[in-house]
Amino acid sequence: MKLAERVSQVTPSITLAIAAKAKAMKTEGIDVCSFSAGEPDFDTPAHIKAACVKALDEGKTKYGPASGEPKLREAIAQKLKRENGLDYKPENVIVTNGGKHSLYNLIIALIESGDEVIIPAPYWLSYPEMVTLAGGTSVIVQTDASNGYKITPQQLRQAITPKTKLFIINSPSNPTGMVYTPEELQALAEVIVEKDILVVSDEIYEKIIYDGAKQVSIGSLGEEIFARTIISNGFAKGYSMTGWRIGYLAGPLELIKATITLQSHSTSNVCTFAQYGAIAALEGEQDCVEEMRQAFAKRREVMYERLNGIPRLSCPKPEGAFYMLPDISKTGLKSLEFSNLLLEKEQVAVIPGIAFGVDNNIRLSYATDMATIEKGMDRLERFIKSATVMKS
Ligand code: GLU
Repeated sequence: MKLAERVSQVTPSITLAIAAKAKAMKTEGIDVCSFSAGEPDFDTPAHIKAACVKALDEGKTKYGPASGEPKLREAIAQKLKRENGLDYKPENVIVTNGGKHSLYNLIIALIESGDEVIIPAPYWLSYPEMVTLAGGTSVIVQTDASNGYKITPQQLRQAITPKTKLFIINSPSNPTGMVYTPEELQALAEVIVEKDILVVSDEIYEKIIYDGAKQVSIGSLGEEIFARTIISNGFAKGYSMTGWRIGYLAGPLELIKATITLQSHSTSNVCTFAQYGAIAALEGEQDCVEEMRQAFAKRREVMYERLNGIPRLSCPKPEGAFYMLPDISKTGLKSLEFSNLLLEKEQVAVIPGIAFGVDNNIRLSYATDMATIEKGMDRLERFIKSATVMKS
């Protein structure tokens, strides 16, 4: 069969593949410690589930507008104003099938052959793949741990060409866990405005932030940057709603309208009754978010201490999200070999950094229980001290 060229240029999502493999091994009775996909281990809070059940009972089981339930678009617009200082009307919002789908809609609506998209590395693995699917070109800008894995205004300026259309920023970041300060965002915003490009701010981890780090949306830093910003967000991480698949985009009207047209021919509306759960998430009590954040904060301390106590590994302390990206270069192994051997020898599942554009690192998600973290760190330590690694 001759498949379309565009699919042959992309590979399946390795985060999803490794998570599925770890789950399948567990089902077979193998004692796996999985630090693979970034998926909170908490159940969705009860009041959110109750709102969804109520919507089902009330017969909210029909098609809805492709743009999303009006009540949810309104609630999102209010949230963006209240929490992020972004002045959007409900018409500027589209409800999508998750944060990933938000970005996909945006990139397909905006990017075509000849367009360049600037992506700082380490990056979330789906960004460049989406750009490829749209026929565009990713311009990867390498950042490093010494600079907190953050792109500098100089690096951004240097990467911009007449073909640049979009810059992708993700703070708190997957996979580094780093958070840009308001000053750093301001300096990047100045370059974006001066060069007149667009920026998509992926804020999916905004609720998961530590040590007093401040979550600021780049679009809130002035009218000129606001006009060039698109916000991508969703409910998966902050409210532990990964399987619900509800995300959203907010941005300039013309662009949002284009994504609605696209969605009307691809997925139609997001599951109607699920959207009522999302309304409850935004309008209900937020203690559940804080409780989960505090649990992540404790796990972060334990994993950080343990990782840095293992010979040959080092890892900066992340300020947000629920990932650690230790440097494995002193083991002499590259990320894929390291991850495969670790799974085979010690049944610990991690994501090779190569998936995020860095081959000297692995990514561990600590959105899992403390017992798994302790056990997994014991195994990782044994692996590092084992003959396999010592020989290399
Ligand atoms: N975004 C999460 C991760 O990076 C979930 C998996 C995925 O969608 O790639 O692990």
